Amino acid sequence: MTDFGLIGKDISYSFSKAHFTAKFEEEGLDYSYDNFDLDTISQFPEVIKNNPNLLGLNVTIPYKESIIPYLDEVDGVAQEIGAVNTIKIGSDGKLKGYNTDHLGFQASIFPLLAPHHENALILGTGGASKAINFALKQLNIPCNFVSRTPRPEARYTFGGLTEDIIKAHQIIINCTPIGTYPNVNECPEIPYDAVSEAHLLYDLIYNPIQTKFLICGEIKGATISNGAKMLELQAEKSWEIWVSE
Ligand code: NAP
Repeated sequence: MTDFGLIGKDISYSFSKAHFTAKFEEEGLDYSYDNFDLDTISQFPEVIKNNPNLLGLNVTIPYKESIIPYLDEVDGVAQEIGAVNTIKIGSDGKLKGYNTDHLGFQASIFPLLAPHHENALILGTGGASKAINFALKQLNIPCNFVSRTPRPEARYTFGGLTEDIIKAHQIIINCTPIGTYPNVNECPEIPYDAVSEAHLLYDLIYNPIQTKFLICGEIKGATISNGAKMLELQAEKSWEIWVSE
């Protein structure tokens, strides 16, 4: 009977299971953490029904938004972001959703920020991009989204990006899965020639450690960061929520 777990699709690679299993072992906690690989989110109620011991869940790609209708309550920030990556299961069986991605991202990017990092470009418009937008808004950094097809929330499409647009956005955050292992030779299509030392390129991807997106930034002298620190920090924030009263 598992106590904690991860809901997602094709998650055998999962960082969370390894992270929490190691944590429970190191801290002598008699808990278990399992993956629930779902073909569709409609299988979620079965997970809850078949695992009555569950105390908390993480939610990952592609269910951070589609999980919301299955919850009894959603915390205000997660509601504003529109995505849930953490679920706490109360002693009454009620499911409450939270978002800790924005906290992990904010804490990890903060030490890298410089005064000239004035505007941000967010590549992708999925669940994670919304948490990133929320975190940057809190840091008073205006953001524009880039999508592959025109979308109301996205000012730009990848095809419409120019060198001037890149120069005007000193922070560029990859919130797409492009470049994730094993597709390590892929990267978001942006005009890298306009990237300079003034830029901060942040990739939410953590496998590989250095994506092609980050390599292209490093070559141009940009400050770079992968998503490993964010991942660790969001997991710790999930833990704090699960064990809080
Ligand atoms: P998601 O909801 O599925 O969104 C993915 C976004 O990427 C969508 O906007 C999608 O566009 C876009 N996209 C996918 N393939 C693309 C392509 N070939 N060209 C252009 N755009 C493409 O996923 P998510 O939950 O936001 O996660 C995004 C990434 O962030 C994943 O790699 C995930 O592992 C990573 N992540 C990392 C952390 C961390 O702690 N480090 C936390 C959260 C997420 P369409 O809408 O057009 O499909």
